[in-house]
Amino acid sequence: MNPRNNAGLYLHLPFCRSKCPYCDFYSLSSRAAREKTDAYLDALCDELKTGRRAAAFTGNGRPTLSSIYVGGGTPSAVPAEKLAKVLETALCSFPVEDGAEVTVEANPASADGAFFRAMKAAGANRISLGMQSAVDAERRALGRTAGFDGVKRAVCAARDAGFENLSLDLMLGVPGQTAESLELSIARCVALAPEHISAYLLQLEEGTPFYNRWDALDLPEEDAVCDMYRALVRRLREYGFWQYEISNFARPGFESRHNLNYWRCGQYLGVGAAAHSFLNGRRFYYPRDLDAFIAGGAPVDDGEGGTPDEFVMLALRTTRGLVYRDYEAYFGAPADQKYAAAARRLPEKYVCVSDGGFALSEEGFLLSNTLIAEIL
Ligand code: SF4
Repeated sequence: MNPRNNAGLYLHLPFCRSKCPYCDFYSLSSRAAREKTDAYLDALCDELKTGRRAAAFTGNGRPTLSSIYVGGGTPSAVPAEKLAKVLETALCSFPVEDGAEVTVEANPASADGAFFRAMKAAGANRISLGMQSAVDAERRALGRTAGFDGVKRAVCAARDAGFENLSLDLMLGVPGQTAESLELSIARCVALAPEHISAYLLQLEEGTPFYNRWDALDLPEEDAVCDMYRALVRRLREYGFWQYEISNFARPGFESRHNLNYWRCGQYLGVGAAAHSFLNGRRFYYPRDLDAFIAGGAPVDDGEGGTPDEFVMLALRTTRGLVYRDYEAYFGAPADQKYAAAARRLPEKYVCVSDGGFALSEEGFLLSNTLIAEIL
C-alpha cells in the first residue's frame, strides 16, 4: 500500500452506556445524548454519501480505502441494524481496496450474537473487543460492567458470527494490579485465542474521575508497571505474538492495517464528532460537539501534516523503526543525517542502529517519549 494514495476511514460513535472513570475519549452517556443517536447516524451517513462538509480539504476526489475502523465511544451501544446501515453506506460511497480491513470496536457488555452477525453481514471482517483486564476486581475498578464471563461470551458470539480476526485490549498499571494478576490476565486472554492483542498503560487524564482521586487509587508503582510491561512483552512472545508497535502484538499476518497506516504517516479520513483526518498534506478535525455535527458543522483546519519529524516520530513507535528506504519512498529524498547522528548518541540498550535505519529497543519503548524527543 502506498500511504500517499490510499486512506483509512475512521468513523466515531460517541455514545457509551456509562462513562468509565479513566476515559477522556469523546463519548457521552447521558440519556439526552443517547436520544440523539438516530440524528447523529443520519448525519454520518449524509457526510459519507456527499462528502460535503470536508470538501474544502478533500477536493472533488475520494480516496481509495485500505481500511475502515468504526470506533468510539462504544459502537456496540448503538442499535446494530442502524450501525450496519452506516457501515454499508461507507462501503458503497468510496472505492475500497480488495481485502480491505474493516474493524468494529465492541464492548463485551453490549455486544451479543445479533450485533456481531449484523456487523458481519454489513461487511466487517475484524472485531476489536475492549477487555482491559481478565480479572473481575480490576474490571470493576475500571468501571467495566461485564465480568470476564461476559468477555468469554462475547468472544464466542463473535467467532460464531464468523469473525476470524479478533483483537483484545489489555491495560497495564490499573488499580489493584500485581505481577501475578497480570500473568492471569495474559493467560486468560491468550486462552481466548485472539489474533491480536493491544496492551496500553493506564494514563491518568486531567478531568477524569481517576485523575481527581488518583492518590486514593491503589495504583502499582511506576517501577512495577515497567516490570509488568517487560513481563507482558516476554510472555506474549512465548505465546507466539510478535510485537510490531509499542503497545501492539499480533499473530504473524494479523497486524492491524488501519493502525499501521497511522504509523506509516498514511492518509486517513475521520468522520464524526471529534474525528481527526490527514489528507492531501493537511490535518483537520471535527470539534468534540455532538450537536454541532448533527447540525452540519464542518471540520476545522489543524495545519500541515506529514512532515519529516512526524514521519520519524511515528516510525519509531514501531519495532520496524525508521527504515531509510521507507523514508525515501515517502519523501522522494534521503533522510536528514541528523536523525541517525542523534540515534548513535543514545545508549545501545535503548536503540538498535544499523546501516538501513534504527529502532527503539524494548527498554527504549519504556522511555519512548523522551528518546523520540531527543532524536528529533
Ligand atoms: S467504554 Fe470506552 S469509550 Fe466508553 S467510557 Fe469506557 S473507555 Fe471510554
